Formats: sequence, C-alpha cells, structure tokens
Amino acid sequence: MELGAQLLSFLVFFTYASFFEWFVHRHIMHVRRFPLHDAFRGHTLVHHQIYHGENFLAKTKGRPPHVMLRWYAFPGMLLFHVPILAFLQWITGWPIFWGAIAGATVYFVGYEYTHYLMHVPRGHFVERFRWFRFLREHHRLHHKYMLRNLNVFIPLADVCLGTLVTAEGWRSKPAKRARFLARRRKNVPPSS
Ligand SMILES: [Zn+2]
Ligand SMILES: [Zn+2]
Repeated sequence: MELGAQLLSFLVFFTYASFFEWFVHRHIMHVRRFPLHDAFRGHTLVHHQIYHGENFLAKTKGRPPHVMLRWYAFPGMLLFHVPILAFLQWITGWPIFWGAIAGATVYFVGYEYTHYLMHVPRGHFVERFRWFRFLREHHRLHHKYMLRNLNVFIPLADVCLGTLVTAEGWRSKPAKRARFLARRRKNVPPSS
C-alpha cells in the first residue's frame, strides 16, 4: 500500500511538474517580477540573447556559459513545495511525500540534462532518439517565439494550454507574412 501510494504520488507529481515548469517559465522567467527578477534577467536577457537564431547551438568550446539554471533554482523550488506536500500527507494520511520529491527530482534532472544537450551537442546516446530531436526542435522554436513552447522537458502543459508550436509560423515566412498583412490592411478602414 505504501509503495503503491508513493508510486502514484511520483506519477502525479511528475505530471504536475510539466505544468509547474510552464508556469515558472512563462510568468517568472519571461516576466520581470520582484523579488525573482534574477530569473528573468538570467533567462530572458542572458540565455535567450546568447542562444538566439543561428546561435541556438553553443559555439564556444568546453562548457558554455548560461545554459544551466542557477544552483539554487531546484533547492528553492523544492523548499517551496515541502510544506505543501507535508500538509497534504498530514491531511490525507497518505504516504506521498517522498514519491512527490522523487517525481520532482527526476523531472528537474531530465530538464537540465536535455536542455543542456539541446544547446550543447555532446554525442550522447539520447541525442539519437526521435523524442530528443523533437524536443530540441520544440525548444529551438521557443527561442524564436518566446511565449510558445514553454515546456522544455515534457510538453504536456504546452498541449493543454494551447502554446504548442511544431513548425515555423507565418512570422518566419516573408512572402506569407506580406500576404497576411496585405489582407489585414484591406479589412481595416483607412484612417482619416
Ligand atoms: Zn534554451
Ligand atoms: Zn524561455
């Protein structure tokens, strides 16, 4: 019973982590918010500016800067959840605490590892998998359209919240963009 509850808790929290990742990425890493403005600066102003367009893949040798999150990001996120999980375990009487912590840890390690390889190819085995190539393209489009593809590891929240983009949109195609804008101008009455 205990192991079953922890396993279920692992799965539920791993799934929840996709939504948490989406929320933090959209509302903290891409919006300047006191006292978390360092997350905005490090992500939007530094990471996105360095790994942009042609430079999506790191060009420098060795360990390129500003790919991984700050060392305190994960401990901070865990600490935020500890009282919530302890309360849930206490109120339900279900042993869910360690399953949830394990689910969060696996998600975070998956995030850091795959995100690193997306920007810094190392020839690791996982880079050959189709799912990894899909995720890398998914993240490349995020670096292009900043408020789309807000998941990095498991794009479940992108699917559920309507922010998934899988191909270049009209903004990236000059001819299509010109047609779109011309059509829009025709529908707008000229200003006097
Ligand atoms: Zn990135
Ligand atoms: Zn971003």
